[in-house]
Amino acid sequence: MHIAIVGVGLVGRVLALNLLNRGHTLTLFDKDNAYGEAAAGMAAAGMLALFAELETAESVIFEKGKRSIALWQGLLAQVGIEDAYQQTGSIITAHPQDYSELDHFIDTLKFKVKEAEEIELLDSARIKALEPDLEHHKKAFYIPHEGQVDAQRFMKASADYLLNHPDVTWHQERQIDDVNALTKEFDWVYDTRGLGAQEYIEGLRGVRGEVFWLEAPEVKITRPTRMLHPRYKIYIVPRPDDRYIIGATEIESEDMSPMSLRSSLELLSAVYSMHSGFAEARIIKCVTNCRPALNDNLPQITYHDKLTRINGLYRHGYLLAPAVVEEALS
Ligand SMILES: Cc1cc2nc3c(=O)[nH]c(=O)nc-3n(C[C@H](O)[C@H](O)[C@H](O)COP(=O)(O)OP(=O)(O)OC[C@H]3O[C@@H](n4cnc5c(N)ncnc54)[C@H](O)[C@@H]3O)c2cc1C
Repeated sequence: MHIAIVGVGLVGRVLALNLLNRGHTLTLFDKDNAYGEAAAGMAAAGMLALFAELETAESVIFEKGKRSIALWQGLLAQVGIEDAYQQTGSIITAHPQDYSELDHFIDTLKFKVKEAEEIELLDSARIKALEPDLEHHKKAFYIPHEGQVDAQRFMKASADYLLNHPDVTWHQERQIDDVNALTKEFDWVYDTRGLGAQEYIEGLRGVRGEVFWLEAPEVKITRPTRMLHPRYKIYIVPRPDDRYIIGATEIESEDMSPMSLRSSLELLSAVYSMHSGFAEARIIKCVTNCRPALNDNLPQITYHDKLTRINGLYRHGYLLAPAVVEEALS
């Protein structure tokens, strides 16, 4: 079939890779250029946090997350970056005064899925063995199976792959408002515009997220690490060349303007309190985008005449996109 995909962000790219494997010819439309920053998928940390996300999510996220983790390596191999995948588990810790919150967090996960029994309580000696740089923390949990995709490498490598594919035509910087009209021209149309589909999807809203990119040669954290805090929950996601993504705020707003002073103070104070080696870190950049979310914060697939809409991946895009796309195509 000759298929159009409108919105080539995270979901659009994962979908395009799947459709090419099934032998279809594709025409892609995006309001941004292929390497642009408009997609939430470009701002993401790429964490595959199937357990940690459960605190505020339904267990369906866990099941789809497991399936996506199984599918990611194939997708990354398809675009030639197998090494952009890491699955060495994650660490979650807190300041001593917040240990009860940490215990409650883990109990909530165990209540939701039986696999959470595999989460390991770490004492100082085990913390030192797993992440020597965090040895000053007296208590933490190790969450096996969690990992990350290098989101920015995936976005770039998939753009290169799709732009060079003989069965793909990519119309960059082409905003499409009337997606329905394309059904006259193509055998099937997919609307994967994220927040750009707001006019057509009732209840679709943006949830603002802000992250810092730091360069911190004095810090040697090797796995995604979270710190629970009653007000500032942060994560630290290690990337090559001593870089770390520090995130992320979660604000009910569709404001895409640069990071606020309050958010920057909260994120940076929290990360410094987690590891003093961040004191001399260099701030590489701060990034803001909005996660496309529905009322239940769950993904949604809807089928219409010659048109499928996939949306609402909220803060779980990397965790869920491969499984959600697989479901949409089944
Ligand atoms: C700060 C931050 C951190 C995150 N961290 C994680 C994480 O660690 N793990 C995780 O699993 N998820 C994370 N996410 C969530 C993830 O990024 C999103 O769930 C995901 O990107 C949603 O994918 P999407 O394709 O629906 O939307 P997008 O990635 O936003 O793509 C939508 C695309 O549609 C295009 N478009 C919009 N309107 C139009 C139009 N009218 N015409 C043509 N094109 C249009 C846009 O230019 C864009 O390219 C994070 C998000 C943010 C903001």
